[in-house]
Amino acid sequence: MDDGTTLMFDLPGFRVVECREDSAGQRLVVVMGADAEHACPGCGVLAVRPYDVRESVVKDLPFGQRPLIVVWRKRRYLCLEAACGRRVFTESSVQIPPRHRLTGRLRAKLEAAASGSARSCGRCCPGVPGVGLESAQSLAGQGDGPVRQPASGAPARTG
Ligand SMILES: [Zn+2]
Repeated sequence: MDDGTTLMFDLPGFRVVECREDSAGQRLVVVMGADAEHACPGCGVLAVRPYDVRESVVKDLPFGQRPLIVVWRKRRYLCLEAACGRRVFTESSVQIPPRHRLTGRLRAKLEAAASGSARSCGRCCPGVPGVGLESAQSLAGQGDGPVRQPASGAPARTG
């Protein structure tokens, strides 16, 4: 995928690797972390070659007139440090911390809506499925739950 698509989507720390319409006519964008090297959270040793990738659907700000399904193709690594108790780990991101399924920019918008500084969340987030002011308020003070893995093939929708 060209850099223009990544620039247009503009999710910090990620690049767009695929953008298409699925068989149901839903728009789908697949992103990967811009960095291919990640430090093991157990020992800090850098892993440079992923052994696997897993896809998970994350929720993001509305983009365009129709819903956009955002799929994070996450790299998984083996820790090669013999003294480390952690054998495998998954890449992490500031934008989407472990076990979260909302992007940081969506969380910020929801938190702003819940705190009352942006009272019109129903207008500013109309394309986010399942996100209303009540869910914004309930999400703002909590983690946003485990990431659900889509079935093989087409990614599943969360929410
Ligand atoms: Zn390690």
